[in-house]
Amino acid sequence: MKFDIFTIFPAMFESPFAESIIRRAIEREIIDIRIHDIRDHGVGVHRAVDDTPFGGGPGMVMCAPPIIESVEEALGDELQETTMLVMSPSGERLTQALVTQLAAAPRIGIICGRYEGIDQRVADYLQARDVSIGDYVVSGGELPAAIVVDAVTRLLPGVINSASLGDESHLEGLLEYPHYTRPAEYRDMRVPDVLLSGHHANIRAWRRAMAEARTRKRRPDLVESTDDQ
Ligand code: SAH
Repeated sequence: MKFDIFTIFPAMFESPFAESIIRRAIEREIIDIRIHDIRDHGVGVHRAVDDTPFGGGPGMVMCAPPIIESVEEALGDELQETTMLVMSPSGERLTQALVTQLAAAPRIGIICGRYEGIDQRVADYLQARDVSIGDYVVSGGELPAAIVVDAVTRLLPGVINSASLGDESHLEGLLEYPHYTRPAEYRDMRVPDVLLSGHHANIRAWRRAMAEARTRKRRPDLVESTDDQ
């Protein structure tokens, strides 16, 4: 899987991709991540990439030409087969279902916004999907882009032990059950007896019940959407 990320803050990606699972996926050549500085296509001596919004209002908007030109230079003909994403709080929500869909793409391009956002013509011209990491606003698209890369990469074959993928939150519309490890007792808190019993059927039933109870309590919206199906 190839990722191309377009940003005005390339240095923000140095550490998130330099550790642990992502680092190993890069070393094993399962993924390749290229970071492109949109400012290389900025305008004038200051390499400007933003301007005031048409129609008025506060803040600045990222201009279309430097972004579209960066993407075209980086991807060329590969653009046809690249799934382009624009990180945006007004995009469709990133869910495990969308992550799974993205993991099947041959190539993903991600555009990171700053300021008030990005000229709409970027997404229109590049036929990009607007994607949001959740219903809150962060100050730029870089951390959201790193989240997309991470969530997609861990699903790719050979990245992590596939047994650990089989049991996770959001797979069947349920949150995961609680985990415990040694010591079995700590400050008067005992691990539930069933987990120490060695009785696998009971453990499975307990975990399922905990997952359902937790989902009902914390995320009733997920229970309703499963009931609808
Ligand atoms: N004025 C915008 C917010 C801009 S935040 C609005 O109200 O919708 C600046 C940039 O941060 C955005 O262009 C986007 O790339 C990124 N960003 C902020 N919150 C995000 C979220 N929840 N998901 C994905 N990207 C986000």
